[in-house]
Amino acid sequence: MSARIIDGKALSRQLRQNFRRHAEHLKQQGIVPGLAVVLVGDNPASRVYVNNKIKACEECGVHSSTHSLPADTREADLLQRIEALNADDTVHGILVQLPLPAHIDMRRVLEAIDVNKDVDGFHLYNVGALATGNTIFPPCTPYGVQLLLETAGIDVAGQNVVIVGASNIVGKPMALMLLQKEATVTVCHARTRDLAQHTILADILIVAAGRPNLIVPQMVRRGVVVIDVGINRLADGRIVGDVDFEGVSEKAAWITPVPGGVGPMTVTMLIDNTLRSATRLAGEGEGIGSLGWDAPTLHPPHP
Ligand code: NAD
Repeated sequence: MSARIIDGKALSRQLRQNFRRHAEHLKQQGIVPGLAVVLVGDNPASRVYVNNKIKACEECGVHSSTHSLPADTREADLLQRIEALNADDTVHGILVQLPLPAHIDMRRVLEAIDVNKDVDGFHLYNVGALATGNTIFPPCTPYGVQLLLETAGIDVAGQNVVIVGASNIVGKPMALMLLQKEATVTVCHARTRDLAQHTILADILIVAAGRPNLIVPQMVRRGVVVIDVGINRLADGRIVGDVDFEGVSEKAAWITPVPGGVGPMTVTMLIDNTLRSATRLAGEGEGIGSLGWDAPTLHPPHP
């Protein structure tokens, strides 16, 4: 078997065209959707991620502003900047690029973001809402994975989904979302004994460990759906995921490539959340827990 590709780049392109129309629709009502990105320090990888987000905003007609602060910024000053963005009516989404310098308490900063503008979905309110199935801002990477599965016509209900990686930004929220969709979810991590014993049972395998070649063909069953979230730069400069793509493709029914799978979707879902926020804050939704569209489908109605 040679797996079918789940093409995140192509889906992103389509979604961004819809988002552009949605942004135009908002503009006709006098609302310019706006995203503020806060970057502390000069981590080159963070700079690349921020640039990608800004580019995606431009592509979709979303206004963006970048707030670059020096690495030695005091936590109090960063909090003050976030307060100002919370109060700014032209800003519908606030994203603080992680990681933050070690002297800053990340949790305190994330909790300072107005929950109504928390487009990364990392505020405790949104994390809690995810656990009860009422989130307004699903975290972008798992949200992108969910949409990739949906678009490929893969129903997760009743399926054995094995997630490798249990981080707060990917593995754990992914597990909550899939549980909400009635999948049977197993979460593995670095301390899991005999990883293959779990992965071999997966109907759907989602890997977010940050370890190249962690998943090899003998660890999966024939017909599995594989979502590779990992992004690893090899010594020769190549970017690869966590899955032996060539080998596992021979057994899988579906697989995401790296690059071109989950990566572009993460940025695209950030735009989705920003538009969702602009729509809510414009009064088309009624506040926390009451979206202007049907949250469980995860698809805003783009006019
Ligand atoms: P993290 O380091 O915070 O967490 C990694 C998780 O994987 C941990 O739970 C750890 O226990 C587990 N793990 C590590 N080694 C393992 C092993 N040998 N066996 C089983 N589990 C193991 O990482 P993260 O921030 O969640 O990111 C994970 C990967 O996904 C990275 O490669 C990152 O670059 C990538 N990522 C991609 C996107 C995207 O948009 N595609 C977004 C976020 C993260």
